[in-house]
Amino acid sequence: MSWRDDFPVFDRPENDRLVFLDSAASSQKPRSVIDAVSKYYEESNANVHRGVYGLAVKATEAYEGARAKVAGFVGAYDKNAVIFTRGTTESANLVAFSWGRQNVASGDVVVVTALEHHSNLVPWQILCEEKGATIRMVEINEDGSLDLQDFAKALSLNPRLVAVSHISNAIGTVNPIKRLVAMARDVGATTFVDGAQAAPHVQIDVSALQADFYAFSGHKMLAPMGIGVLVARPEILDAMPPFHGGGEMIKVVGDTSSTFAPIPSKFEAGTPNVGGAVGLAAAIDYLEGCGMEAVLKHEKELGRLAIQGLQGLGGVKIFGPESERAGVVSFWVDGVHPHDLATILDESGVAVRAGHHCAQPLMRRLGVSATARASFYVYNDEKDVDALIGGVRKAKEIFAITV
Ligand code: PMP
Repeated sequence: MSWRDDFPVFDRPENDRLVFLDSAASSQKPRSVIDAVSKYYEESNANVHRGVYGLAVKATEAYEGARAKVAGFVGAYDKNAVIFTRGTTESANLVAFSWGRQNVASGDVVVVTALEHHSNLVPWQILCEEKGATIRMVEINEDGSLDLQDFAKALSLNPRLVAVSHISNAIGTVNPIKRLVAMARDVGATTFVDGAQAAPHVQIDVSALQADFYAFSGHKMLAPMGIGVLVARPEILDAMPPFHGGGEMIKVVGDTSSTFAPIPSKFEAGTPNVGGAVGLAAAIDYLEGCGMEAVLKHEKELGRLAIQGLQGLGGVKIFGPESERAGVVSFWVDGVHPHDLATILDESGVAVRAGHHCAQPLMRRLGVSATARASFYVYNDEKDVDALIGGVRKAKEIFAITV
């Protein structure tokens, strides 16, 4: 039995040859997650928190149980300081529009890095534009690692906020996140960590990291789409104004103004994605069953084999640092545009992503408009790496003839 056997998508006759190498965009789901979501809808579905009848109590228990599970999995400061969102993007927007509106003023500086996904950049750009604050983007080194000297230089501006990714989705760089957060804290900056590519692959301990905010998405870690998380220091969340107004987040609603519920409800206006939260809890159970160390080791090894194989073909440039990288392999094949490459690979059943990976500032620095990206997860194996290398070899041959 391999982990792959737990994923029904690979059992489908039409997916007989599917080599899924796009988990950085979204992962496949194991049977246990699909079953947990179905079971929830079959046995416990009702709106949460408000009902006194049995089914509503069951749904509420499932939802709050999922919150407790997430809190334990990532070392949250407090179960109530785990906010369910739609994903990393919504988590960043929540912080930008709630904390940011209250804490960022004209003349302030927000530090980001050139590695960021647009989700951890555009919300801060919108905020800074509105407030008359400035974005300071930290540069990368030639090898795609973060330029730590430039990071220190940026911190000398005494930023209000440092927003940085734990792992780059585009080129797989693993940032020295503990060090970055400590450096930011030393200058009194608030820290927002985009953990979208880290929570699925490495053991996270937000309290040990001492980050003020840590965000991630369920769908990249075997859970359904539409469920994500913002973990934060409870005292910061307590002091923040609400993000969305509506049901669930209020204490008393007057005719012209209202008071608000304590966290987490203050930040969970409206009916939440209970089925998604249940699925996320099941995904965490699955990952804990695999062991996060084993997960990381597995995909790092596949990434290493892929890099070795691609380099062996010649005429392939690999982006990202040699060490300190996750199971994301971003590359450029001389003479073959990444989009053509992805199309040819698809003909052999190999699914990779081609594009800017929502990281246009990074692509500009790498001097390309797009890369091809293969990303590995628990269900991939060495045969998948062989299929990737075989597909790239074929694409090179086709273009050598036609160009
Ligand atoms: N940050 C990173 C590093 C990502 O990889 C992604 C998803 N590609 C996001 C943020 C956005 O996540 P979501 O679309 O789930 O909100």
